[in-house]
Amino acid sequence: MDRSALDDLKNAIRTIPDYPAPGIQFRDITTLLGDARAFRRAVDELVQPFAGLKIAKIAGIEARGFILGGAVAHQLSAGFVPVRKKGKLPHETVGMPYSLEYGDDEIEVHRDAVSRGERVLLVDDLVATGGTAEAAVKLLSSLGAEVVAACFIIDLPDLGGADRVRRLGVPVRTLVSFA
Ligand code: AMP
Repeated sequence: MDRSALDDLKNAIRTIPDYPAPGIQFRDITTLLGDARAFRRAVDELVQPFAGLKIAKIAGIEARGFILGGAVAHQLSAGFVPVRKKGKLPHETVGMPYSLEYGDDEIEVHRDAVSRGERVLLVDDLVATGGTAEAAVKLLSSLGAEVVAACFIIDLPDLGGADRVRRLGVPVRTLVSFA
């Protein structure tokens, strides 16, 4: 994607200072999602390296990863798997705990959501510390899925999350970064 297209994408993201806590710059993609051109371009760019790679499933991380992941799944003719916060899925689940800055959390998927050897692409809006994505990679891998790559619209490189996911052996694609 050329520089000006990337700038357009970045400009479509709204920054809310001190949300949800003082000192956090919240990168709000609802403005990008509401802009038909920017939304289409973001999805087209996210999927571009993965067309033809026989991706069977998109795993989208709650909640903004559902919106992007659904569009990406349609584009790649793949299925969609919701990676949810603990306690939200109705059938038998497997979970993976992970640490947050203050305390712990857990994500879950249905035990039958992916099968052994299935090629899965992980999608979320943003990678910060990479803790959520790392837990998702470990969870999907524990079910035997092959996590082909992880993609995000936004990287916060100062927090090192993309590299943390790469250290698991999973390639990472991001479109814009906020340093
Ligand atoms: P992390 O596990 O630290 O990589 O955090 C990633 C998750 O938290 C993603 O699902 C993001 O949607 C959300 N997140 C973390 N930091 C921000 C931020 N500054 N702005 C918007 N969302 C964020």
